[in-house]
Amino acid sequence: MNTQVHPSKLIAGATGDWEVVIGLEIHAQVSSKSKLFSGASTEFGGPPNSHVSLVDAAMPGMLPVINEECVAQAIRTGVALKAQINLRSVFDRKNYFYPDLPQGYQISQYKHPIVGEGVVLVDLSPTEQISVGIERLHLEQDAGKSLHDLGANDSHVDLNRSGVALMEIVSKPDMRSAEEARCYVTKLRTILRYIGACDGNMEQGSLRADVNVSVRKPGDPLGTRCEIKNVNSIRFIGHAIDVEARRQIGILEDGGKIDQETRLYDPAKGETRSMRSKEEAHDYRYFPDPDLLPLEFEQSYVDELASHLPELPDEKKARFVTQYGLSPYDAGVLVLERASADYFEEAARGRDAKLVANWVINELFGRLNKEGKSIETSPVSAVQIGGIVDLIASNVISGKLAKDLFEIVWSEGGDPAQIVESRGMKQMTDTSAIEKAVDEIIAANPDKVAQAQAKPTMLGWFVGQVMKGTGGKANPQAVNEILKSKLGI
Ligand code: ADP
Ligand code: MG
Repeated sequence: MNTQVHPSKLIAGATGDWEVVIGLEIHAQVSSKSKLFSGASTEFGGPPNSHVSLVDAAMPGMLPVINEECVAQAIRTGVALKAQINLRSVFDRKNYFYPDLPQGYQISQYKHPIVGEGVVLVDLSPTEQISVGIERLHLEQDAGKSLHDLGANDSHVDLNRSGVALMEIVSKPDMRSAEEARCYVTKLRTILRYIGACDGNMEQGSLRADVNVSVRKPGDPLGTRCEIKNVNSIRFIGHAIDVEARRQIGILEDGGKIDQETRLYDPAKGETRSMRSKEEAHDYRYFPDPDLLPLEFEQSYVDELASHLPELPDEKKARFVTQYGLSPYDAGVLVLERASADYFEEAARGRDAKLVANWVINELFGRLNKEGKSIETSPVSAVQIGGIVDLIASNVISGKLAKDLFEIVWSEGGDPAQIVESRGMKQMTDTSAIEKAVDEIIAANPDKVAQAQAKPTMLGWFVGQVMKGTGGKANPQAVNEILKSKLGI
């Protein structure tokens, strides 16, 4: 819990500075082949109602059967969040009517969740970390989807998503700015993807956030919160917090008070609006689901799952700094995705790791971003990047030619060393050949020679000419030295 808030995080109002307080409830769709209580497929995007079992359709008399893989995923996530794992938890019925919830209740966990308190270390920058507390994580069913835009006078229901397992991950109200909330979601998403518990795909709705926002004068007790439902991108989470905090400050400064309510964020209008107030809040009449026994397992089961977890991003980052001598910034960028970290390590094996990190981060990631590709679909493999770095390290090609080589490998593929050989891209290290090129340029430009002798900064022009004359293949350092001695500067 942050007690002292950096002044730059405060929002200036007419009556002084305000502090914004944020807590997030993240719904993360569990990666599993089948649903939480049925054998139906969880695959995204099938024809409507093609992945629906009799349990998901809530046919009378159907009984839910717990899917062990979903339980294991929740435990793995709890361990990765350094959280308390509860060896006994209970599934409850949360009763409400909704057209895409045919049971008339959602099976969820209320008083006894599978995972208790934990913590996430959030990177605000390569050198600044805050810790955000986790209140709990529980398992629950997702609902189906109502479609209102297929016809003018009718609505349709698609139950493919009905019964898919969700983990609801509830944070403590520990965040103090939109930026902190964005970084928290980014880190949580990275952790979930590392351990394979959720694909983190926000466009497909695999990760959605309910955003709780309140404001207060620094040092005051917590203010009344509003909850903004179902925000589905990291950017929108940031926007929603900023506009909601402004709205609340405006009301309070006008002498009003905040009503606790559920609101919706409208990205097109850049505002939040009321969905329902606390008075209209449902009474869900939670009670233990009589069709399901309490969920119980042994500590040895938890230990077994924990022992198979991969190295997590914080540990990997620390290792990259010590093992490879990378800066915390470069290490942080490389560990954002497990696949990028693996790619880097494969390319760095037996090589100058800092040089490899440079090429992966600057050239490769830059290019992948530009083309909207991911590391998994990179046209340049780790072996190929390693090959390019080898040619630079052994002075066969210059840094500039290496960029041309990267382009060729990117678009045509092939072995970098062979490409350099067959296209004659080798750097000229033969000084007599460079001297010959220098002599030619000097002989052709007597006026420039006189200028350069008067004004040594003209040297750059000569270097450029020699590089051009040698097709960029001359070693720039050798060119510099030879030119200086021949021009006598
Ligand atoms: P509910 O079911 O009413 O949404 P939960 O306990 O599930 O309640 O979630 C409450 C969420 O709101 C948590 O993420 C918590 O951190 C956050 N929260 C609680 N109080 C405040 C507050 N005053 N300001 C901002 N967020 C808050
Ligand atoms: Mg809530």
